[in-house]
Amino acid sequence: MGKYAALVDVSKCTACRACQVACKQWNELPGEKTINVGTYQNPPDLSVTTYTLIRFKELSDKGEMRWNFFKDQCRHCLEPPCKEAAEGTVKGAIIQDDNGCVLFTEKTRLLDIREIRDACPYDIPRQDPNTKLMAKCTFCNDRIANGMVPACLKVCPTGTLSFGPRDNMLDMAKKRLAEVKKRFPQAKLMGDEEEVSWIYILNRPEAEFQMTVRAKRPVTVGRRGFMRPLGTLVAGTALLGSVTTDSSRE
Ligand code: SF4
Ligand code: SF4
Repeated sequence: MGKYAALVDVSKCTACRACQVACKQWNELPGEKTINVGTYQNPPDLSVTTYTLIRFKELSDKGEMRWNFFKDQCRHCLEPPCKEAAEGTVKGAIIQDDNGCVLFTEKTRLLDIREIRDACPYDIPRQDPNTKLMAKCTFCNDRIANGMVPACLKVCPTGTLSFGPRDNMLDMAKKRLAEVKKRFPQAKLMGDEEEVSWIYILNRPEAEFQMTVRAKRPVTVGRRGFMRPLGTLVAGTALLGSVTTDSSRE
């Protein structure tokens, strides 16, 4: 099975948060009781019951208020630093499917959350304080394995999210970037040259988005010679065939 990827064109995101709701529905995760802390970002952060989140950044643009939205979740690194960190302590606690999905198993309860969270360039892993189980986005591995698109990608009504084999997504990203650049000349790709399965088209400078990316993460080179995610940069089968944007699937 080949590796899959998601493409996020943030210029199209309206922060409707249908993706957040779909994730909760498919994974049977409860809602969280939150309080208003002066932002529409809700819930305030990822957690063991919130695997994906639209992060809001509010900016003043020539005297007018503007929001930038950023969909955050596990990037499903092709050579996951979290898995590498876990292997040193509990083998098999974090595994990777052939399709690219990085999965936390029950054995994660035996790991040190500080070590695993610190290994992640995107600050994704969370731990249940009671069970000690760690949790994060699964890329809907159960859906992909059955020829379906991940739940969040299925419901996006604006065309922000696309899904398919990674090579197809990289091709689509380049074509879409050329389109986005007509309106936003400084638009760029993020994640395309890194070993991650979530690729972004940013229509504005990276600093204008709310991202939880660990600063000053050292550059390392993966076993295949690719550069792993920089702290400051961020970041198929017959059933799915060459699906790209495929919101028609269940
Ligand atoms: S469903 Fe699509 S448009 Fe709505 S918040 Fe998620 S990514 Fe943005
Ligand atoms: S984004 Fe973080 S949690 Fe997800 S695979 Fe990469 S290192 Fe692991």
